[in-house]
Amino acid sequence: MEIHHVSKEPSVLNKFLAEIRDKEIQKDSLRFRTNIERMGEIISYELSKILDFKEEEVTTPLGIKKMKIPNDQIVVASILRAGLPLHMGVLRIFDKAENAFISAYRKHIDGSDEFEIQIDYIASPSIEGKVLILVDPMLATGRSLVGVYKKIIDLGKPKSIHVVSLIGSKNGIEFLKENMPENSHLWIADFDTHLNSKGYIVPGLGDAGDLAYGKKL
Ligand code: URA
Repeated sequence: MEIHHVSKEPSVLNKFLAEIRDKEIQKDSLRFRTNIERMGEIISYELSKILDFKEEEVTTPLGIKKMKIPNDQIVVASILRAGLPLHMGVLRIFDKAENAFISAYRKHIDGSDEFEIQIDYIASPSIEGKVLILVDPMLATGRSLVGVYKKIIDLGKPKSIHVVSLIGSKNGIEFLKENMPENSHLWIADFDTHLNSKGYIVPGLGDAGDLAYGKKL
């Protein structure tokens, strides 16, 4: 798996990342979601550079210009519910993409911190021959993402696979490297050092789903 550390060169992405981490700014959930959408747009721009392009002629009011236009069929697949704002940002750039939604959650075993990944719902088009963009903002253990990948490839063999994420742990990245195809790509804004006993990234930002959409029971 090729890792693309999108904030390696500091850019405006760092400001959005700092804001989604900041516990005071997080109190504004609209701003939290909007910042994530903006990060999805920036990461998609970077990802677009390695897609396939075809030359097309564009007719302006004054003449004709040959241009290279992205030519891939894309499916953006997100894990409910935390993936939704990042999905919207990616979709704003790849506006002709098809969409897939998958539910994956941590099912805790006997109330302990141990958990397994439960996948109940999948709504997806065929991904055969298409560019598959898997969206998950927090790459903690990497287990949800790999679980979702293993389910979704029942729906066809993608042309290429890109994981788009915001914050990853070292464990999560290692797990992805071991379990995703060698020619896949990870586009990630930032890395943190470790996970706490509940599987949250530290310092991370907390629970991305709760911060975007409110606390759940
Ligand atoms: N999911 C989150 O929302 N936050 C984490 O830190 C890990 C998983």
